[in-house]
Amino acid sequence: MTNQTTFLDRLFDAGLLIDTGVDGLYGRSGQFEDVISAFERLIDRFGGADGAEAIRFPPGMNRAYFETSGYMKSFPQLAGTVHSFCGNELDHMSLLKCMDADEDWSKEQKITDIVLTPAACYPLYPTIAKRGAIAAKGALFDLQSYCFRHEPSKDPARQQLFRMREYVCMGTQDHVTEFRQTWMDRGLKMMEAVGLAVEIDVANDPFFGRAGKMLANNQRDQNLKFELLIPITSTSNPTACMSFNYHQDAFGAKWGLNLEDGSVAHTACVGFGLERIALALFHHHGLDVNTWPEPVRKALWG
Ligand code: 5GP
Ligand code: ZN
Repeated sequence: MTNQTTFLDRLFDAGLLIDTGVDGLYGRSGQFEDVISAFERLIDRFGGADGAEAIRFPPGMNRAYFETSGYMKSFPQLAGTVHSFCGNELDHMSLLKCMDADEDWSKEQKITDIVLTPAACYPLYPTIAKRGAIAAKGALFDLQSYCFRHEPSKDPARQQLFRMREYVCMGTQDHVTEFRQTWMDRGLKMMEAVGLAVEIDVANDPFFGRAGKMLANNQRDQNLKFELLIPITSTSNPTACMSFNYHQDAFGAKWGLNLEDGSVAHTACVGFGLERIALALFHHHGLDVNTWPEPVRKALWG
């Protein structure tokens, strides 16, 4: 058995994750959720004084925004679209017949106006663009959303529906790159506080296809993405538990995000993978939170 399957089975046996029959789609116990809530409070302690505007979007976003975002150009393999039955009574009868016969019943399922949110910040940019120019001092947002990525796996650290907490900063190049650096420093401090050994490394997004390789190389060459890595199911291939992304003015230009002086806003976002952080804690400190080292418990629960 691989390390991934072993850890997944241990999490199931301990009741921390609950098997749904689909790889990467799990229920979570109250204990698991309590660790996530405690870690989110730690995030609040580090970031709360910055005065970010909190916004919570549902885990589905406007399909028109999703299309404009260009996600299907870069990551078609990860996207999840919501389809619903839109037929008449005859179509309904044929659908039920197909289901009974174990045949494909999805023919009358039509795409709806909703797409599953791929990253917590995607719905934000068009929303803020609608408000008009961004103040010269910049803008800061605090987001949390379930995100969907179609990548079924036995690795408990790779889930199809998971929560991402994000801070998103909009402003000048200097402002948003300083924001990103601040969170890299804070990320290291936070993980130290909860007893996790980490490293930060340059990274790239999983762009699709051959053209995607070039995009990934370009992203690395320009240091646009860093990840905070923690070994969970592999020491040689540690898991990204936070990411620090600088989009230059790409989202600003795409969505018409301008600063008061008319210049195009630069943007950066910092994401915490909440399930991954909880899994890292359970992996390193044990499946019973009562036996976690006292300083770790104190950092999380006070
Ligand atoms: P990114 O947009 O950088 O790919 O993702 C932001 C953060 O979400 C990552 O650093 C990671 O912590 C978390 N994340 C990304 N993919 C997955 C996944 O498949 N499963 C889980 N549980 N978290 C993920
Ligand atoms: Zn983001």
